[in-house]
Amino acid sequence: MRVVTVGAGPCGLYASRLLSGLGHEVTVLEEHPSVGRPVQCAGLVGTPVVERFGREAVINTIDSALIRLGTRSLELHRPGVAHVLDRTRFDASFASGLDIATSSHVTGVRAAGDGTYRVDAGGTVHEADLVIGADGPRSVVRKSMGFSAEVRQYTACQERIVQDVPDEHRVLVEVCRPFFSWAIPEGGGILRVGAFGRQRDLDAFKEHAGLSGGVIERTVACVPVGKAQLVRGGAVLVGDAAAQTKPLSGGGIYYGMCAAEFLASAVEAEDLSLYPAAWQRAFGREVSFGLAARRIYERMSPHDLSRVFDVLCENKDRIEDEADFDRHSSLARLFIGNPRLFAVLGRYLFSMFS
Ligand SMILES: Cc1cc2nc3c(=O)[nH]c(=O)nc-3n(C[C@H](O)[C@H](O)[C@H](O)COP(=O)(O)OP(=O)(O)OC[C@H]3O[C@@H](n4cnc5c(N)ncnc54)[C@H](O)[C@@H]3O)c2cc1C
Repeated sequence: MRVVTVGAGPCGLYASRLLSGLGHEVTVLEEHPSVGRPVQCAGLVGTPVVERFGREAVINTIDSALIRLGTRSLELHRPGVAHVLDRTRFDASFASGLDIATSSHVTGVRAAGDGTYRVDAGGTVHEADLVIGADGPRSVVRKSMGFSAEVRQYTACQERIVQDVPDEHRVLVEVCRPFFSWAIPEGGGILRVGAFGRQRDLDAFKEHAGLSGGVIERTVACVPVGKAQLVRGGAVLVGDAAAQTKPLSGGGIYYGMCAAEFLASAVEAEDLSLYPAAWQRAFGREVSFGLAARRIYERMSPHDLSRVFDVLCENKDRIEDEADFDRHSSLARLFIGNPRLFAVLGRYLFSMFS
């Protein structure tokens, strides 16, 4: 089968590599001149990512998180809970042996009417039996093929700064809606600092956190949150193009890479409908939980947010033991029987479902 993958991010490359391994003729079209650049990611992943997809791109390991809400803070410890990736190296590790056409900006995809597709990349037309839209949050494949989607885009700014920190294995997370702001040590005296919103939001976070180191790299990018149709005829979406992200944190590497595996298995079984079914089984409820929790988080009054933070602080030990980096519903299970939390959240839940 002729497969054209649009986008050489980790999800497109991994899906392409798996399909190439199954004997399909795969071409990857990437708009940038090289794979893995520019980096538009904080590169923080849980242990399952490195266990399943390789640890060669790991440049630092995280043992704790300092979470701040205003002047209050909660410190959580769990050695080796997360890893910091060199995203360029991570993406490139899936590229070897693939036919990748760089500097190929795809402008549209259309069905040819005979079950095949035409992918238009700057005047060059590529014929395909299967098109994989792995072209990130603002997917051209999603739009031009008319996939249904309910996706909200959140803009985030990130910088790499040269900064001495007291602990190179601790991340700083400042609660700041609609998500949070972050400072993630790469090691070697470099921090990745970021905030959702505009540059002024990032500047405010840096000032508040006392981070004034020299900037060596800057990026502005989008995080998609929501749900999208995954299969439409012989076209499929994977990764950020399909909003396969954690709704509460925006992290998308783990979900998108797992989805690439589900997609490859469906292609191998010659039944694309197995792909959304496997995705739904693995992450459907998790994403639905995250979307509901996000709606509450965005609507909650500052006073109620502070009361939730109190409950988190009181349950520090349980969070350290039981919370799952990639499955945030684990937190809901922790507090399901907590009357104080229910008193705060019950009102929001009721208004969402009434
Ligand atoms: C600021 C920020 C911080 C993040 N931090 C984390 C984190 O710490 N942990 C985590 O798990 N996730 C994080 N994410 C999310 C993570 O980066 C994405 O989920 C992940 O990159 C998705 O991979 P992908 O392959 O689906 O898409 P992408 O990595 O976006 O790759 C898409 C590729 O498609 C190419 N492309 C796009 N349009 C076209 C076109 N028309 N023609 C040809 N090529 C095209 C792009 O150039 C790109 O190479 C973060 C995102 C942002 C914005």
